[in-house]
Amino acid sequence: MTDSESTDAEVTGAQRTGAELPRQDSADLGAAAVALTQTLVRLPTFVTGDLDDVETPAAHLIADLMRSFGWIVTVEEVAAGRPNVVGVIHGETPGRTLMFEGHVDVVTPGDSENWSFPPFSGDIVDGRLQGRGSADMKAGVAAMIYAARGAQLAGFAGRIVVAVLADEEGMMVGAKHFAGTELAASGIDGVIVGEPEGGEVCAVAKGAIRLRVDLHGAMAHGAMPHQGRNPLPTMGSFLMGLAELERQVAESVGAHPHLGRFYLTPTVVAAGDPSQVNVIPASASVYLDIRTIPGIGHNGLLHLITRLAQQITADAGLTAVVTVIDDRPPVDTPEDAPVVRALLEAHEAKTGRAAVLGGVPGTTDGTILTRDAGLQTVVYGPGGKWIAHMQDEYVDVADILTCRAVYQEAARIFLSSGDLAGRNERTDS
Ligand SMILES: [Zn+2]
Repeated sequence: MTDSESTDAEVTGAQRTGAELPRQDSADLGAAAVALTQTLVRLPTFVTGDLDDVETPAAHLIADLMRSFGWIVTVEEVAAGRPNVVGVIHGETPGRTLMFEGHVDVVTPGDSENWSFPPFSGDIVDGRLQGRGSADMKAGVAAMIYAARGAQLAGFAGRIVVAVLADEEGMMVGAKHFAGTELAASGIDGVIVGEPEGGEVCAVAKGAIRLRVDLHGAMAHGAMPHQGRNPLPTMGSFLMGLAELERQVAESVGAHPHLGRFYLTPTVVAAGDPSQVNVIPASASVYLDIRTIPGIGHNGLLHLITRLAQQITADAGLTAVVTVIDDRPPVDTPEDAPVVRALLEAHEAKTGRAAVLGGVPGTTDGTILTRDAGLQTVVYGPGGKWIAHMQDEYVDVADILTCRAVYQEAARIFLSSGDLAGRNERTDS
């Protein structure tokens, strides 16, 4: 499954490329980031029926680019057609490690008839770079690559990791895999995730649980319901109970200043068969999409839901089975964490405006990196907060340029704060 290379592990970026490649100034780096965004948007990297090649063309393009900069590059397939690409640059002296993280898989454009331009156009019209994945988040990936390149050309202490991880739009298999690697455990001191957040610095993200609850009764003829145990009326009671539980939990924790409120939403109910109206089904299922905020413990919440299901079903002579499909805790990185402070300072330095703290309404790869690898993550990237997954997706070219510059400045600030200098050995070589 791996197509993995580690080349020239002992050669630092500065030694390898500083003397060999022409220096690029910031304007060049910004233009290069815009051009790379266009190239990436023109690759339709979404999951179709044929799963063979989702990120592959984009991943290889990025890996080749990173290699041309002299970075240590690893390409590893975490599932068929789903490669992680990770580039590592060593600075001139030991120091902190900063990681940039992003993804190049995109969601489906849906019906292209509903778009006012071709979904994978990549063209720039009136300062907007258009296409599916432009904001979410090929612009972010391009900006972080050319920010790291800028840091490399300027010289830095420590280490920069640029990770483009597979399947963010699915089950985040790439981030889950990365979290288990030696590199993830080698002392990464902060992670900037480049999702589109409209210029807000988002140190907090909502948690999410996907849950399935099955209510099991007994099948019977519709003419003789007393012979069975119909799970459908009980499902009704359970849904009412969930609505009350949502209200109680939301009231007890209140609203988060950047994340808003807690949600517990039934999204799918399944039971019976429309072609068998005279049959009482043996079981009924409900799927729940739960969105949490810091202060809500997932284990405690799951316990409350399970107890509710057990009580309601026991009263009706049924049984309940609760299955956790996915469990992503909220991210609650402190606002004074070094990686957050570096971004806040860099944003102000490059835009002349104080940064706005925000929150991520969904979950990102950063959620997984925090949960599984204990990394401090913060989300900041080009593109509007609400544009992701919509038709007519675009990113302002100015956002890409600003973000690239902010990323590079954040790297400079983060890596020149030396309280951890000397702590990282080269464990990834
Ligand atoms: Zn995204």
